[in-house]
Amino acid sequence: MSDAVQSDVIVVGGGLAGMAAAVALAEDGANVSLLERRPEIGGRAYSYLHPTLEETVDSQHVVLGCCTNLLDLCAKAGTSEAIRWYDELVFLEPGGRRSLMKSGLLPAPSHQTISFLRAPMLGVRDKLGIATGLMEFLRGYPADDTESFATWLKRTRQTDRAIRHFWEPVVVGALNDGFERCSTKYAGKVFHESFLRSPEGGRLGIPSAPLSEFLSPIAEHATQIGATVKRKSGVERIEQAGDGQWRVIVDGEEHRAASVILATNFKEAQRLLHDLPGAALDFDPFVAAPITTIHLWYDRDVTALDHAVLLDTRIQWVFAKSRIRRWKAEQGSYLELVISASWPELQLGRQEILASALRELELFFPSIRGAKLLKSAVLKEARATYSVTPGLDRFRPKQQTQYPGLYLAGDWTATEWPSTMEGAVRSGRLAAGTVVEKTNRFMAAEAPAAGLMRWLSH
Ligand SMILES: Cc1cc2nc3c(=O)[nH]c(=O)nc-3n(C[C@H](O)[C@H](O)[C@H](O)COP(=O)(O)OP(=O)(O)OC[C@H]3O[C@@H](n4cnc5c(N)ncnc54)[C@H](O)[C@@H]3O)c2cc1C
Repeated sequence: MSDAVQSDVIVVGGGLAGMAAAVALAEDGANVSLLERRPEIGGRAYSYLHPTLEETVDSQHVVLGCCTNLLDLCAKAGTSEAIRWYDELVFLEPGGRRSLMKSGLLPAPSHQTISFLRAPMLGVRDKLGIATGLMEFLRGYPADDTESFATWLKRTRQTDRAIRHFWEPVVVGALNDGFERCSTKYAGKVFHESFLRSPEGGRLGIPSAPLSEFLSPIAEHATQIGATVKRKSGVERIEQAGDGQWRVIVDGEEHRAASVILATNFKEAQRLLHDLPGAALDFDPFVAAPITTIHLWYDRDVTALDHAVLLDTRIQWVFAKSRIRRWKAEQGSYLELVISASWPELQLGRQEILASALRELELFFPSIRGAKLLKSAVLKEARATYSVTPGLDRFRPKQQTQYPGLYLAGDWTATEWPSTMEGAVRSGRLAAGTVVEKTNRFMAAEAPAAGLMRWLSH
C-alpha cells in the first residue's frame, strides 16, 4: 500500500516495556512509532477517574532500590521526584504489635540483623531457621528455576510461624502467588536483592502520585525525543510483506517498518503471533494471577503509618495513600488494602470483600471504629501479573524471535526478573538492544553490592 505510515521501528503496546523500548530507540536516533490500544499509556500500571466515586484510583505499585532500569527511565523522564523512599518495613500483628525491619549499622548482608533479632513477630527457633535459610541466597539465587518455594521451605525446615510472618508476606507480596507456584529461583532473588545485597537495593519506593500521572512523563519524554505515540490504536494483526518489511494493521490503516517490537501482555502476543507461519512459542505454561485492592476514604486520620505489612489476615499490605501523598489533616484519610494472589476474592461479591476487609482492619487499627467511612471501592485485577511457576523460564521467550525484524518485549519475556515494572522496562530495553544488535546497550548498571557482599555476591 502506498499510503502506509512508515517508521524504522513500530512498538506495539504502551506499557512500561513498550515505552522503555521506544525511548531507548528514539534516543538512538531511530524513527519510532508506538501504538497503544487504550486511551492512556502505562498498561497495567495505570490510574483512572472512578466514574461514581469521582476519585482517581489505582492499585498501588511499589519499587525497590534494585529496580535500576525503571529508576533510570523515571530519571530520564523527570518523574523520580514523585517516588517516596522508605528505609523500614513495619509488620503488624492483629492487636497492633509491631515488628520493624530496617537497616542498621552493620555492613551488608547483616544490615537488617539487629532489627530482625528484635522483631517480636518471630521466636528464636523461627529466626534461626530464617537465618539459615537466607544463607542459601547469600551469594545469589539458583540459576535453575525448577524447584518450588514450597519444596524449599520443607527442605530448609522452616517453622510455621516463620512461614506465616516472614516468608509468606514477602514472597506472596512480591511474586503474587502461593509457594507451590513460585520457583525458589525468583523467591531467592527477592531475598538476595532486598534483604542481603545492600541497604540501598532493598529500599522501598512508593509513587506519591496516581500511576498514570507518575508514568505519563515517560510517554511525554518519548514524544519530545522524536517518537510518535499513538493512543487508541489497537493493532489488529501483523504480517511480513514480500520485501521483508512488517505491516501492522490498525483500524484498516497500515503502518510499515523494518522492525516491530510486540510489547503486549502474553495473551495478546499469542493472538498476534498466531497467524504467522511456523509460530512456535508455547504459551500454555503462563498463568495470570489476580490482585484485589480495597480503597477506603475516612473523615479523619486513622493511622500514623504510611504503610505496613499485615500478618495472619487476607490483607497483606495497607497503604495510607493520604499520608504518602501528604494530604492535609482536614482532607481526611485514604487507605488502600492489598490482597495478593486473590483467587478466592475473584469469586466473591464486592460487598463481601469489603465487609471482611473492614473487620480485619479493625483488628490492627482499633481506633478506626471511631472514624466515619465516607466512601469505598473494591478493584479486582484478574490478570495483574503472571506467576513465576517452577520451570517457567524454559518457556519465557528471548526478545529476538525466529522472524527477522520481529522482537518481543513485556514482563513475561526472558529478563531474569519476575512480573514487575522493572522486568517490563528491562524487557523493552533488551528488545531495543536486540534491534540494534547490541543486546545490553540500553541497560542500566545493576545496583552495587555493599559491605561484605562486594566479595560474597556474584
Ligand atoms: C494490581 C497490580 C499491582 C501490581 N503491583 C506491582 C508492584 O507493586 N510493583 C511492580 O513492579 N509491578 C507491579 N505490578 C506489575 C506491573 O504492573 C507489570 O509487571 C508491568 O506494568 C507490565 O508492563 P508491560 O509493559 O510488560 O505490560 P502491560 O502493562 O500489560 O502493557 C501492555 C500494553 O499493550 C497494550 N496492548 C495490548 N494489546 C494491544 C494491541 N493489540 N495493540 C496495541 N496495544 C496493545 C495494552 O493496552 C498495554 O498498554 C502490578 C500489577 C497490577 C495489575
